[in-house]
Amino acid sequence: MRKEINRKGFSLVELMIVVVIMGILIAVAVPLYTAITKNAEKRTCQDNQRAIRAAHARYVLDNANDSVGKIFKDGHTSFNGSSENAQDVFKEDFLNYFDDGLLPHCPTHGAYYTVSFNSDVDIVIKCSEDGH
Ligand SMILES: [Zn+2]
Repeated sequence: MRKEINRKGFSLVELMIVVVIMGILIAVAVPLYTAITKNAEKRTCQDNQRAIRAAHARYVLDNANDSVGKIFKDGHTSFNGSSENAQDVFKEDFLNYFDDGLLPHCPTHGAYYTVSFNSDVDIVIKCSEDGH
């Protein structure tokens, strides 16, 4: 009885070539993925800021008899997302323009919005993340 030994397989050189190719692919893919993710976060953030501006415009139109731009509760003239809760600063009527009554937030972890006015009608929204 003769036993056949299976000698098929990969040599060490072949395996090393595959590992090197995989390393090159990962070295290219990771920075690309990071850049795409950052770009998507930036675009989402800009959409959020547009949504807040649009909600403010609708609020002003719907509350023409109210003082223009008064989206803040009494005692507040601006919103700082790093230290304040949107529910404590914005009027509920204004927050109801958003899904679930929640002010949109920047998708970048740890980033926050500040909202203020440079006149009665011109709303200023800034994201704490650079470039947003
Ligand atoms: Zn942002």
